[in-house]
Amino acid sequence: MELWYTEEQTENVRLSLKVKEHIFTGQSDFQKVDVFDTHEYGKLMTLDGLVMVTEKDEFIYHDMIVHVAMAVNPNIKRVLVIGGGDGGTVRELMRYPHIQQVEMVEIDKMVCDVAKDYFPTVSNELNNPRVALYYEDGVAYMKGKKNLYDLIIIDSTDPVGPGEGLFTTEFYTDCFNALTDEGILVNQNESPVYEQFAKEAIRANEKLKNIFPIVEVYQAQIPTYPSGYWLFGFASKKYHPVKDLKAEAWQQFNLKTKYYNTQLHLGAFALPSYVKEYIENG
Ligand code: SAM
Repeated sequence: MELWYTEEQTENVRLSLKVKEHIFTGQSDFQKVDVFDTHEYGKLMTLDGLVMVTEKDEFIYHDMIVHVAMAVNPNIKRVLVIGGGDGGTVRELMRYPHIQQVEMVEIDKMVCDVAKDYFPTVSNELNNPRVALYYEDGVAYMKGKKNLYDLIIIDSTDPVGPGEGLFTTEFYTDCFNALTDEGILVNQNESPVYEQFAKEAIRANEKLKNIFPIVEVYQAQIPTYPSGYWLFGFASKKYHPVKDLKAEAWQQFNLKTKYYNTQLHLGAFALPSYVKEYIENG
């Protein structure tokens, strides 16, 4: 009998992946964690039935959530990651030898444990001595922090369940205060195609605009996320993500990235008209 994993992306849209084996299932204090071995996308981790990471397309999301900011300010040294339990974001950050320390605050230890057990190519830098890992709620962790980080990456689940607090004005204000004067914040910002997600993305964007002087949105094509078309937010105190791109300086790092490059960087901020309109007019 054929086995399929099916995600209800909206009430009217489903994504199905043919599965070889359902490898792991567990219920943490926060969410249901599952791992499937799929035919097309390799291993897949889901949280509460939603795709979080697949071996085949995780490189797109992790390249885009890390390297865009690093090419705008190649001097970033102190980084905070909120969420990010699979380890892919930390893996990409660890490719920069000059990054001194990464703090990662993941609410759910089970996600990291499962990533270490089943996704070694994603989680392989979680034990790097430059990484300080805290199993805490990111919202509480940010309280009272001042002038500490050059970059904050919010690698969160959707704004339901444990991730909800990571999309609020209070949290973004705490992040602003925790950043240095050159600080950048990057967050994952949902898909613009389906209305329920698009509205959330716009709301998050509006909140950021009330706090940061520079706020832009960029895009990537991620096959296993709803609609395959995903947005990220870029909020910054000083650097504009396009005008201040340091392409040559970034190329000096000589990183072989599978998705990101500095030409694509410019295109990522060139949004389709309907997305621009959504963002400008709601
Ligand atoms: N890229 C994925 C997506 O969009 O489906 C999500 C990435 S996954 C690494 C997000 C992580 O955020 C999960 O491991 C989840 O446990 C964690 N998370 C959710 N709410 C959190 C919170 N309040 N504080 C810290 N981590 C949180």
